[in-house]
Amino acid sequence: MDHIADAVKALSGCSSILVFTGAGISTESGIPDFRGPGGVWTRVDPEEFTYSRYLTNPDTRRRGWAMRAESGVFDATPNAAHRAIAELWDGGLMIACVTQNIDGLHQVAGLPDEAVIELHGNAHHTTCVSCGSRQPTAVVLDRVAGGEDDPTCTDCGGILKPDVVFFGEMMPEREMMRAAMAAGEADAVIAVGSTLSVFPAANVPLEVAEAGHPFVIVNRGPTELDDIATVRIEGPAGDLLPGIVRRLISGAA
Ligand code: NAD
Repeated sequence: MDHIADAVKALSGCSSILVFTGAGISTESGIPDFRGPGGVWTRVDPEEFTYSRYLTNPDTRRRGWAMRAESGVFDATPNAAHRAIAELWDGGLMIACVTQNIDGLHQVAGLPDEAVIELHGNAHHTTCVSCGSRQPTAVVLDRVAGGEDDPTCTDCGGILKPDVVFFGEMMPEREMMRAAMAAGEADAVIAVGSTLSVFPAANVPLEVAEAGHPFVIVNRGPTELDDIATVRIEGPAGDLLPGIVRRLISGAA
């Protein structure tokens, strides 16, 4: 069966598609995911990276900065899947891209800020938890490369934390509201590169699907929501998504 044709058929006529992305969309840009084969959680215990551990344990912060320096996030470039989503937006068929990713690659690929909703923050900025002063993470990583393994705020000496949501931390209220609004207005959803197992983020595609709209999943490996998908396509997003988007745009033109 041609699943791409099935996906295009399911989505044809839709003009407010919500795209929901996870770590899997960025593996072809060289950034490991968390739960895929070889993902970060196969090597590291997620319990070590809770918000409270980060604030109270200097060893956790040292490990965090060392991992960040090697994460690939800071020198990655977008791949064909990120670019396809920007084309879908330019083609006028999309309402928003709700992402769990913290790498900022959707914007680099050409999606305007208004089109991107980052549920788990963005690693490219870092904030002092004491005085709130904000700076590019690249500046902090330069200090790490220079030998400071737990760099502190140069203004007040406070703990520095990248602008990403840690386990045990509140989700960003404004982005959650934007995501809920987009989900309420969407007429279809495509989930790309996510196990759809991290809640409340996965509620976003779930809500669109439960409203009776087409739900297409593009993923390597199973997801938690496979049973309710309209069409599920197995394989690398960078190979699959450009063809789907091209056919949707040419069908809409
Ligand atoms: P996940 O790790 O739980 O799932 C990723 C899924 O994508 C897996 O099923 C994997 O097999 C699949 N996958 C891997 N490469 C793929 C490809 N090329 N094409 C299609 N599918 C592919 O990721 P998640 O659901 O996003 O949840 C993990 C959490 O980790 C998120 O909350 C996110 O904030 C964070 N995270 C972000 C990044 C990033 O910003 N790039 C990287 C790692 C983790």
